[in-house]
Amino acid sequence: MSTTFHYKYPFLFYGERALASIIEEIPLDNLRNLISNIVSRKAWDRVSDDPLNIMLTVAILQRLQAKRLLSRYAVRLSKKIGSEIQRESTETVLNVARKIIDNRINVEDIQLRGVKTSLFKIPVPTYLRISQYFKSIKWKLVNQIVINGYVYVGRRDLIRLIEEMLKDAIINERIRLKLPDHIDLSDEYRRISQIERTFTEKIKMPKGKIRVDAFPPCMRELLSRAREGRNLSHTERFSLATFLFSLGMSIDDVNEIFSNLPDYDARKTMYQLRHLKGLVGSGTKYSPPSCKKLRFYGICIRGEECKDITHPLQYYLRNVKRRHREKR
Ligand code: SF4
Repeated sequence: MSTTFHYKYPFLFYGERALASIIEEIPLDNLRNLISNIVSRKAWDRVSDDPLNIMLTVAILQRLQAKRLLSRYAVRLSKKIGSEIQRESTETVLNVARKIIDNRINVEDIQLRGVKTSLFKIPVPTYLRISQYFKSIKWKLVNQIVINGYVYVGRRDLIRLIEEMLKDAIINERIRLKLPDHIDLSDEYRRISQIERTFTEKIKMPKGKIRVDAFPPCMRELLSRAREGRNLSHTERFSLATFLFSLGMSIDDVNEIFSNLPDYDARKTMYQLRHLKGLVGSGTKYSPPSCKKLRFYGICIRGEECKDITHPLQYYLRNVKRRHREKR
């Protein structure tokens, strides 16, 4: 196992104990400074190379139950670790996979179209549990090599599965990094709660602001899932992107939201968004689907306020006007 990797990501191997043993060595004042720096510099926006910074960021967000920031950070962290693992030996990849996914994962040589190929084998139930997060048909069991209760995957796909499980483990606190109870985070709590609120309610736009708090329930749900790095089906992506474009959001801003999705591919996403805007392909500019269509797709989560609404944009405009009147 690469000792560098071990050193860079101790929490992958020792979890909570890794943070505890490092913290033991740090004087309390220094630790307090580190925590304040992490919060004031919004360390969750960019994953540092410093393992202590990473562990403290996760620990702070977990302790303060800052779910949205934690999700964003978990997406970024898992992608970073995924790209680091790409450069590691097979042994390291296997060790990380065993730690994060299932300790029964192994490597085996099999004959593939007459050629000896080294693949990772994952128990079928484990594979099914993780692959449910991916919408692409590539991940369906019927498209996999299955032999004697194991799914055989290549290194790249295994790393993609590691990323997904790691993200999930951090968000759902199966990897839990705990700060000692006596460390008071009430100042940080105030700052982080405020950031989380702003993050939920407004998206800054060049020409003013889009009021996320005026979104219909269906779009609010899709946006929140995208921001938390949970998957969206093709129709859900289409509905959300066309809705956001109709409100005047730019391609770059929509792309930024989609960049949290587990199977995000920058080139493909940009092409698809440009296509929806009519900038490539047939030149057709697509509109968001009506409520009737969204109901058919299973995206509608009709609330009380949706009574006579027939289109999500109608809901939004009505809501914005109402809020505006109430303010005056
Ligand atoms: S009724 Fe329309 S606006 Fe309301 S949740 Fe359903 S699809 Fe969205």
